[in-house]
Amino acid sequence: MTKERHSRRSFMGLAGSGVVGALGGTTLWSAAALAAAPETQDADLVVFNAKVYTVDSRAPRAEAFAVKAGKFSAIGSTSDIKGLIGKNTQTYDARRMTIVPGFTDCHNHAGGDVLLYEVLVGNPFEVEFVTITSIIDKLKAKARETPPGTWVEGYFFDDTKVKDKRELNVHDLDEVSVEHPVVVRHRGGHTSYYNSKAFALAGVTKSTADPAGGTFDKDPAGELNGRVTDRARNVFNNVSPRPAFSPAETERRSRDGLAHISKQFVRYGLTSVHHEGGDLAALQAVRARGDLLHRVSYEASGRVLDSMMASGIMTGFGDEWIRFGATSEHTIDGSFSERTMALSQPYPGIQPAYKGNVTETQEELNAWIERVHRAGIQVNCHANGDVAIDMFLTAVERAQKLVPTPDSRPKITHCTLINDELVRRIKAVGGVPAMFTTYAFYNSDKFVFYGEELMKRCMAYKSFLDAGVPVCAGSDFSPGPFAPLMGIQGMVTRKGWDGKTWGVNQRITVEQALQVTTMNGAYASREEAVKGSITPGKLADFVVLADDPHTIDPEKIKDIQIVRTVAGGSAKYEA
Ligand SMILES: [Zn+2]
Repeated sequence: MTKERHSRRSFMGLAGSGVVGALGGTTLWSAAALAAAPETQDADLVVFNAKVYTVDSRAPRAEAFAVKAGKFSAIGSTSDIKGLIGKNTQTYDARRMTIVPGFTDCHNHAGGDVLLYEVLVGNPFEVEFVTITSIIDKLKAKARETPPGTWVEGYFFDDTKVKDKRELNVHDLDEVSVEHPVVVRHRGGHTSYYNSKAFALAGVTKSTADPAGGTFDKDPAGELNGRVTDRARNVFNNVSPRPAFSPAETERRSRDGLAHISKQFVRYGLTSVHHEGGDLAALQAVRARGDLLHRVSYEASGRVLDSMMASGIMTGFGDEWIRFGATSEHTIDGSFSERTMALSQPYPGIQPAYKGNVTETQEELNAWIERVHRAGIQVNCHANGDVAIDMFLTAVERAQKLVPTPDSRPKITHCTLINDELVRRIKAVGGVPAMFTTYAFYNSDKFVFYGEELMKRCMAYKSFLDAGVPVCAGSDFSPGPFAPLMGIQGMVTRKGWDGKTWGVNQRITVEQALQVTTMNGAYASREEAVKGSITPGKLADFVVLADDPHTIDPEKIKDIQIVRTVAGGSAKYEA
């Protein structure tokens, strides 16, 4: 393994446009690693004088560690590890700062091209209140450079992060333009807001009936208010052109978008991210040009998943930078933040009684799970409500009985509302829930929809850890921000940006939250043998933090500065 790594490095150095090009965007550390001759015993990098939390129970704390050929080679006290410094070794005095393993996000839609090229009317990364005027101004500027009749689009709207304390409406968007169709998309992904021109082009009036699975919302006077939910949005799909790009431009946009989001991930300390699909060719191109700064567990759906099954590609195929993981989330029910997840009891305070949406039958689900499981691919379903989680388990229990496979680790994306019986069954099938992380802080303003009794069983980190289920962290970006420290703060405090706490019975310790966000993430993609903790032999992925989340005021964890993010021993981000 070590030999192969060195030969690949030498190959890259010779065959690429020189060392700098091949390593583009990396720093001194990796250059030194490259310069180190394979035969030397010296470390490539020694980090000392640190408060290291290894997330390895065999040696949980350390002061120093050494890195060789991209992996941790030794951990221990500063004086021990300094003995490994040779003439080609880079050294880093951490000045008593905290170092933890690189963070893993186990559910991310990683839409870098939207971040880079589209109009963002809300803050994708942090809690920030915006004004409706600012949204109108941004879209007006876009309309000025867009031919009349072509869509003007805004992204990352959040209805509970508006200073004006009201919904966006059709009149606001008519101020943007009466010549362009205008749409603003909610970051949750299930609702959008349109102007009058868009409604006119789609032929939608106040008397148009709601289609199955969606609504054209009205104001108290019965007029269209601009908000359109779920499947009712389909009527806008084929009216008016969207800005057109040549194939070459489209390719460039997806590559540059991925490079852009990769920079954002490492800025927040993420070294591994589970991608919900995306352009596999672009990922490889971005990696080849040296701009892939984080490791990718690629979760396939549709055509890519079918090709995997047809060609015999299973979970685990790939290398430590781009590897096929579980499938993409196969959806069983609706959303938490927009109140459509499938519950066994009616939603509190809604008349007539409403229990959310199940989006497929048990038979369909059984067949899908069996097919994927038989192909040696880790299944992954989106199940939020207790009804959907029960359906998922029924299908998994059936598939495991038909095709017994030890340790298949069925992944349950969100797995939001549980009860004791569901936890027991998840444990029995060896399931790995990837639950919302930043919601506890970011989306606390939406928990009132469910109320305290249900929130005691939502995002139930403690229930799972107590039962010995290796729950992991899945931000669901773009619906949720992906900052791991915001996620950890939420797991520890269960307190939102608005100061309100919900389901404090599910609070976990900083130590547990760290494990969830590192080691359990590696376990979820079957990579716990190669990453997830600071352990000799594992990939040298770690984060330097300006403060210690174990000792700082828990309500300030999210504000701790990320000083440096390192993957494979090379710095990918420096503050
Ligand atoms: Zn998702």
